[in-house]
Amino acid sequence: MEVCTTVTQVRRALAEAPRPVGFVPTMGALHEGHRALVAAAVAGSATSVASVFVNPLQFGPGEDFDAYPRDLDGDLALLERDGVDLVLAPSADELTPPQRRTEVRVRGLTETLEGAVRPGHFDGVATIVTTLLGAVGPDRAYFGEKDYQQLLVVRALVADLQLPVEVVAHPTVRERDGLALSSRNAYLGPEDRVRARVVPAALAAAADGWDGDADAARARMRSALDVEGVAVDYAEVADPETLERREGRTPAPARALVAVRLGGTRLIDNAPLPVPEAAPGRQ
Ligand code: AMP
Repeated sequence: MEVCTTVTQVRRALAEAPRPVGFVPTMGALHEGHRALVAAAVAGSATSVASVFVNPLQFGPGEDFDAYPRDLDGDLALLERDGVDLVLAPSADELTPPQRRTEVRVRGLTETLEGAVRPGHFDGVATIVTTLLGAVGPDRAYFGEKDYQQLLVVRALVADLQLPVEVVAHPTVRERDGLALSSRNAYLGPEDRVRARVVPAALAAAADGWDGDADAARARMRSALDVEGVAVDYAEVADPETLERREGRTPAPARALVAVRLGGTRLIDNAPLPVPEAAPGRQ
């Protein structure tokens, strides 16, 4: 496995590499969720590439950029074991030099949900994902549904900028009790770790008895999240493509999305709500 720290090195290393090239961008502190994306990229590509970069642009003031877990040696050992061919692990200065002038902003999609709670977050994500896609030039790039809004933002920028890459979505990998794997789960103390089960429980409550009524599904989520020590940023039912808030009853698929704070830890998760089955006597 080759480890590059600059874009020039990556371009040189990939110039003659067998295609297709599959790419998994990460912020490191790798877990089974990342490994599932890596396994898909390794299985589906002639050359597999991962990046490890804690993107300073996607953290707001007062967020956990400094505290974000970092373990580059552990990550590299894991990526090598999983069969990755090349890793890009750049310095902050390499991808975000102080003289940088350009920002990528995806309008519309980024103004709700995570974008409303974390202003500027998706501009940072979009800018660095565009930079990484330009550096690596993959045929396919793998993103987790765990960060569903991010996945839509990446799809939108790839479409709008006509980047020659296929965005592949990977389903969310979960712990046995349903909690979505996340590098931030490491922050949870034992009591908050138990409390965190309310997040997948809220998504299950939205899906349980889902009949297309977004207001009722939101109410079920809110009541599942009504637990001491859990602060809800949002518990929404939205259009799965535009993320516009669903009102009332609609005979169409939707997405349930949740963000909570437990102590100092922020957790997000989401789940599909399929086309509601037509129930006799309804509509
Ligand atoms: P991150 O390191 O948090 O930026 O995540 C890197 C990639 O891994 C993103 O595309 C995430 O959506 C994805 N990812 C993170 N956690 C999971 C998970 N539990 N299941 C599937 N994909 C995930």
